[in-house]
Amino acid sequence: MSVHTVVTEADLWERLSQQPRVSLGFLPTPLEPLPRLSEMLGVQLFIKRDDLTGLAFGGNKVRHLEFSIGQALQEGCDVVINGAAIQSNYCRQTAAACAKVGLKCALVLRQDSRIEPYKVEPQGNLLLDYLLGADVRFINFDEDVNAAKERLAEEYRAKGHKPFVIRPPDVAGGLGYLVCLLELVAQARELGITPTHIVHSSSTPTQAGLLLGVKALGLDWQVLGIAPSPNANATESIAQVTNLAAERLGLPVRVTPDEVHFSTAFAGESYGIPTPEGMEALLLMARTEGILLDPSYTAKAFAAIVAMARKGELTKEHTVIFIHTGGTPALFAYQPALVKVLGLSEG
Ligand SMILES: *Cc1c(COP(=O)(O)O)cnc(C)c1O
Repeated sequence: MSVHTVVTEADLWERLSQQPRVSLGFLPTPLEPLPRLSEMLGVQLFIKRDDLTGLAFGGNKVRHLEFSIGQALQEGCDVVINGAAIQSNYCRQTAAACAKVGLKCALVLRQDSRIEPYKVEPQGNLLLDYLLGADVRFINFDEDVNAAKERLAEEYRAKGHKPFVIRPPDVAGGLGYLVCLLELVAQARELGITPTHIVHSSSTPTQAGLLLGVKALGLDWQVLGIAPSPNANATESIAQVTNLAAERLGLPVRVTPDEVHFSTAFAGESYGIPTPEGMEALLLMARTEGILLDPSYTAKAFAAIVAMARKGELTKEHTVIFIHTGGTPALFAYQPALVKVLGLSEG
């Protein structure tokens, strides 16, 4: 195997410490065995509890925001602008981070009146956005969210504010997940395990940071990203953010899109629409380990592990770390879908 250690863990920590950063989360998050699921699926399974990052119901974006809000504060900005789908976990965590450090937060949320969880209903993450004091604006599902964020930034500038826009490429998220990878290396050592796979729900920055760490340390761990959306073609953007984060840290590491393991096979019909396998995985995790997943992201990602175990692609020889990236507040926006899955009738 031609794996070459490029840098040490201490060197990576040192480089990260040079970056603007604000502490927002309870880190490190726990890495725990999933004994009952391991037994049931015939795979050595562990879970990295990034749903427990601690800020307003937690999630992976707390790690991204430590670096982006750090930069916003360094630049003297007074309002942070973000945007995504209406049940965005990123937007909820952005609103919470802003509240914690005393910045204003303005959000652009894409709504879709055709899809139950994407209607403008103050439930799940959207309810929390309001509760956390964000300035919430809506656009239609067919509008460009990035353009809308820039328009909102312009509106704030015209009122004399200095906005910080969170926009792709989200290099801060890459840095945040390099931190997670370094936590995992230390925790794996403590537990005496050698992971073969890291599996998680992936859009871009989370996987980029993990991949950067694996590559920089020369680890033989496969990072497998599972898409929440069938039309995501993220290998390019993951390689791009990995390389931009490496550049930011002055690391000689570079990756190409063909080195990125990314699957859309578990995304189903559309982003935000639950899949039957995802719902099965969600119930399995809840009833076997007492851990809650969400229908949009983590259930689809865990469904990939279940399917790979059943197909024999993952076996007792494999040590798999599932990263729970959060998203659980969205459960309440999926109440109608969950009621159906659980066979509960109204009233
Ligand atoms: C945003 C999100 C992801 C994807 O994270 P990226 O950093 O965008 O790749 C996965 N799971 C949950 C619950 C999320 O909110």
